[in-house]
Amino acid sequence: MNTDESQHTGPDHTQPPPLPADHTPDSMDTTVTPPPAAEDVAPEPVEFIPVVPQDDSVIDEVLKHNATFAQTFDKGHLTAPPQRNLIVISCMDARINVQDALGLNYGDAHLLRNAGGVVTEDVLRSVIVSTNLMDTTEIMVIAHTGCGMMAATDDQLNDKMLWQYGPTGDCPVAFHTFTDLTAHVQKQVRTLKKHPWVPEKTVLRGFAYDIQTGKLSEISCRK
Ligand SMILES: [Zn+2]
Repeated sequence: MNTDESQHTGPDHTQPPPLPADHTPDSMDTTVTPPPAAEDVAPEPVEFIPVVPQDDSVIDEVLKHNATFAQTFDKGHLTAPPQRNLIVISCMDARINVQDALGLNYGDAHLLRNAGGVVTEDVLRSVIVSTNLMDTTEIMVIAHTGCGMMAATDDQLNDKMLWQYGPTGDCPVAFHTFTDLTAHVQKQVRTLKKHPWVPEKTVLRGFAYDIQTGKLSEISCRK
C-alpha cells in the first residue's frame, strides 16, 4: 500500500502531506516553516529581561497593555483555591473566551486548556492537584464545533511532522484528534471518572460549545 507519496524522504519532497480538503479547518495553520537553526535557539533565561520595544512583536504590544493593566490591578488579595470550586477543561481555541462565556471572574475557577480539550496525563495532574489540594468539586469538559482537532487524523498530523522534521524526537505523537464531538467529550469525562485520585464525589459534566452562537449544550455522560 506504500506509494512514493507516502514515504518520508525529507528534502526530496516539495509539498507537505495534504490534509483532507473537506476538513481544512479555519483554526489550524497547516503551513510548513523550516525548523530554527541551532544558533536561533535562545538559551535558558537566568533573570528577568528588561522590555525592549520591537514594533513588529505582538509580545511587545501585549506588554504595553500589561503596563497599563498593572497600574489599576486590584485582585492581588485573592487566594489560590478557586472561590467557586470549579474546574473547566476546554479547547485552547482562541475564539472561546471561557471566562466571558461562563461568567467567571478572577479567582473563580481553574481553567485547563489544550488542543481539543483533552484529558491528557498533564490535565489529570492538574485535576488531581485541584480537587485534592484546592477544594474544587465540579468539573466541566467543553469541546466545540469547528475544532481544529477534528480536521485531521493523528496519522496525518504525524505524517506532516515527519515530513517537516524527519524521524527525530519522540514520535509519533498522540494528537488526540477526533471525529465525533459527543463521543470525544464522553471519553474525556470517562477518563476523569475512572481515575482513582479524582475524588468520587466530584461532579463531572460534559458540554459542546457552538463557536457560531456562543451557546453551550450539555452532553450526557452517564455511561
Ligand atoms: Zn478546538
